[in-house]
This record gives sequence, C-alpha cells and structure tokens, in this order.
Amino acid sequence: MSNERIKAWSYSRLVDFEQCKLRAKLKYIDRIPEPARPLPPGKTEHANDRGTRIHDAGERFVRGGVELIPELKAFEAEFHDLRNKYEHGMVSLEGEWAVNKDWEPVAWGDRDAWARIKLDAFVRLSKTHAVVIDYKTGKKFGNEIKHAEQTQLYQLAAFLRYPELETIDVELWYTDQDDLTHMKYTRSQGMRFFQNFNQRGIAMTSAEEFPPSPNVFACKWCPYGPRGTGDCDKGV
Ligand code: SF4
Repeated sequence: MSNERIKAWSYSRLVDFEQCKLRAKLKYIDRIPEPARPLPPGKTEHANDRGTRIHDAGERFVRGGVELIPELKAFEAEFHDLRNKYEHGMVSLEGEWAVNKDWEPVAWGDRDAWARIKLDAFVRLSKTHAVVIDYKTGKKFGNEIKHAEQTQLYQLAAFLRYPELETIDVELWYTDQDDLTHMKYTRSQGMRFFQNFNQRGIAMTSAEEFPPSPNVFACKWCPYGPRGTGDCDKGV
C-alpha cells in the first residue's frame, strides 16, 4: 500500500484516475516516463504534437502579426472575430487557472494548487457574460461525454472565479471538422456541477490505494502495460 497521494487534479488526470487508479499512480506519483511511440503509418507527426502546434498557431494568430495556418481555415471568420476582440482587450489567451481545495484562485505552480484548468480563450462580452473557447483538433465522435464534461468544468471554474458572471457560453471549435459545439449556462445551471467535480477531485487526491482496472479500452492506450514499459503486468 502506498501512502503517497496525487496532490492535484485536472480533467485529464480525472479521466486517467477513473479509468485505472494504477495507471494514475504510475503517471502522477511515480512519474514514469512514457515510452516513445512510433508514428502511425502515413503520418508525419503524432496527434498530440499536431494538436499543440495548431493550438500555438491559433494563439499566435489572435495575438496578431501572423497569418492563420491552413489547418485553422475552417474557423477563419471566428478567429478574425477573436483577434478583433483581443485587440479591444476583451480576450485572455491560454488561461492557466489553478484553485486550492476551497476553489480559491492560486498561482499555477503554487504548492496549494489542487485543481488546474487550461482554457484556450476567455472572452468577456460584458461584466456578466463571458465565453470560454476550446480548440479541438481531435475527433468529436466518440468523445462527446468527455468533451461535455470539460465544458461543465470550464464554466464552473469561470463562475467561481468571477462572481459577477451570470451567463457563460462554452464553445468547442472542432477545427478539423468545421464543427462548432456550443453550450450556454446560467449561474444556477452551472453551479449544479460543483458537487460532482468537487467530489471527484477529493476522491482522486485522497486516494491511498491504486488498484489496477484492466480492460481492453484503458489498457490499449496505456503506456505502462505489457506492450509498453511493463510496469503493470495486469494489463490486457
Ligand atoms: S495496463 Fe491496464 S491495468 Fe495496467 S495500469 Fe494500464 S490501464 Fe491499468
């Protein structure tokens, strides 16, 4: 039994932990490096690297002075609108929001940081109305539940951070698919998600035991199973 705990959570950490606690321990407590993955046939970059490159390019475009890259052309009008709002001081980019256990804002690297949420763009339309934007380079199909939960966490963090907000729109820009998914929350609707995320965060950061949960879906992509580093011998 380990006495060590995972000190802080994010949405992606929650997903790892809830899929397989051992995987979360190997990744976030033992910090075992993931083995290098070969490129998929016909690809010149990994999906994660591509996602990072496209996110960076989107941010640089909104800051100004560079062209929009071809991968973001489907959202050309939206990016121009965002750049315009940025010029008017309405947009913050690449927001790194951290909170302590009482959900009070702390610095990203603060030792009390308990939850960390990253936003691509946060737009203040008025004192009471904001928009959270997340660029999505991956597929929508098959990720609907995960992405819906991310929107719930974004809006919750924003309502808690800015008590004057009454309405938040969350937009997921699926840049490869020319698809914009939009959800609107009032404060009372949005705050209903507090208990859910708070309890899940507490469960993750108070766990002292990390049993494996082998199943074909989790193990297939796990870097620590028999086909990866071998740190877990229970993988299927
Ligand atoms: S291989 Fe499977 S059981 Fe083992 S840590 Fe990874 S997800 Fe968990």
